[in-house]
Amino acid sequence: MAFRLVDSMLSIDEALTLVVEHARPLSPVPTPLSDVCGRVLAETIVSDIDSPPHDKSIVDGYAVIAADVEANRTELEILEEVTAGAVPSRSVESVSATRIMTGAPLPQGADAVVMVELTQTNGNRVRIMQPTVKPGQNIMRRATSLKSGQTVLHPGKLLRPAEIGLLAEVGRKVVNVVPPPRVGVLVTGNELVDDGMVPAAGQIRNSNGPMLTALAESAGAKATNLGIARDTQDDLERAIGSGLLTQNVVVISGGVSAGVLDLVPATLERLGVEPLFHKVNLKPGKPLWFGKKRTDGGQTILVFGLPGNPVSSLVCFELFVRPAIQKLRGLLPTGLKQIAAKLRCDHQQRGDRPTYWPALFEGERVTPLPWKGSGDLRTLTDANCLAFFPAGEKLFRAGELIDLLALD
Ligand code: AMP
Ligand code: MG
Repeated sequence: MAFRLVDSMLSIDEALTLVVEHARPLSPVPTPLSDVCGRVLAETIVSDIDSPPHDKSIVDGYAVIAADVEANRTELEILEEVTAGAVPSRSVESVSATRIMTGAPLPQGADAVVMVELTQTNGNRVRIMQPTVKPGQNIMRRATSLKSGQTVLHPGKLLRPAEIGLLAEVGRKVVNVVPPPRVGVLVTGNELVDDGMVPAAGQIRNSNGPMLTALAESAGAKATNLGIARDTQDDLERAIGSGLLTQNVVVISGGVSAGVLDLVPATLERLGVEPLFHKVNLKPGKPLWFGKKRTDGGQTILVFGLPGNPVSSLVCFELFVRPAIQKLRGLLPTGLKQIAAKLRCDHQQRGDRPTYWPALFEGERVTPLPWKGSGDLRTLTDANCLAFFPAGEKLFRAGELIDLLALD
C-alpha cells in the first residue's frame, strides 16, 4: 500500500491493512506442553506410535468368539481377567471367555466383547445373554486412530486442549510454538490517579490501564502494565522508551488528539518510531496513531497510540490491536469477524464518520444501547457487540440488516 501523509485520514480498511502488513509472526520457541495452550504450532508433528497400540476392548465385559454364541454355545468357561495395563496370558478357544476391562488388550482367539451388563456369572462360568454377537463388536482395532509415522498436526495449528492431549499421546513433551507477544500498556494523562485511589478535584481514575491489559491478555498476549506517564516530554520519553526496550507491542492510551498536552506522536517520533498513520475515519477512535520501530537486533516493535476516552480505546483495540496480536501469535489474519443481524428497533445514525455503536445481540436481533458517547464505559458493560453504521445521516428501520462486531 502507498505511504500516506501522516495527517490524512485513512478508512478503517486501509488502516487495518497497514497494521496487518506490519505485524509479523514472532520466531518460534521450544516450549513445554504445560505452556502451549492458545499458542500456534510451528512444526510438523509425526506420531511415534500406533493408537491404540493393540486391539482393545471399549467396554467392560467378556472377550468371546462370536461364532460360539451364534451356534448357541452361550455358557462359557472364564479363563482369566485382564485389566487395562495388563496383557492376556491365554488364548480364547471355543466355549471359553476372558473377563476384560475397558482399554485392555484383546486376547488371541477372541473376536468380540460382550458388555458385562448382558452377561450372568456363576463361579468360573459366564452366560452370554446377548442374542446375537457380531465379530468385531466392542473392539477398537490397533492403529484405528493413528498410525506410527503419520503426520498428526501441521504448522499453523492453534493448540487447544484436544491438540495438547494428542501431543502427549504421540510422546511430545516440548514443541516449537510461536510465543505470546509481549504487550506493554502505558496510560498517559496529568488527570489520572491509580484505580484504587479517590480522585481529587480535576482528577479521574485510570480505567484504561486495567481494561487494555485485560484486552491484551484476552487476545492471547502477555500483557505488562507500564504505569501512568504524565503529559510532559520527559516523562513520556522515559516511559515509552522503557516499553520499547522490552515489548513487542506498546499500547499507549491518551495524548494523541489535538490538545495542547497531546505530546505522544511527537515523542514517539523523537524515539525513532516511524509513523505509519495518524487518524482513521472512525467513530469513536478517530485520533488513532500507529507506527513501528526496528530495533538494533532487527526486531520490529509495533506502537499504537489509542485515544484516551475509554470506549474509543476499546473500539480501536478491537479493530486494530487485536488483529495485530493475532498475526504476531502466528494466526492468519481473518479480517474483522463481522456478522449480519436484524435491528430490533429503529436507530438514527448521525455524523460524518462510520460508527461502531455499543449494542446487545439477543434472540437473533440487535438492539443499539442508549450510549452517551466515548466516555460512557458504563453502557458498554451492557453490550456484547458493536453495531456498525456507515457514515451519514440515516434512519435505520427495525428489521433492517446491519453488521456487528462481536465483543465476546
Ligand atoms: P486524551 O486522549 O488524552 O485527550 O483523553 C481523552 C479523554 O479520555 C479525557 O477525558 C481523559 O481524561 C480520558 N482518559 C484518558 N486516559 C484515560 C484513562 N487511562 N482512563 C480513563 N480515562 C482516560
Ligand atoms: Mg490526555
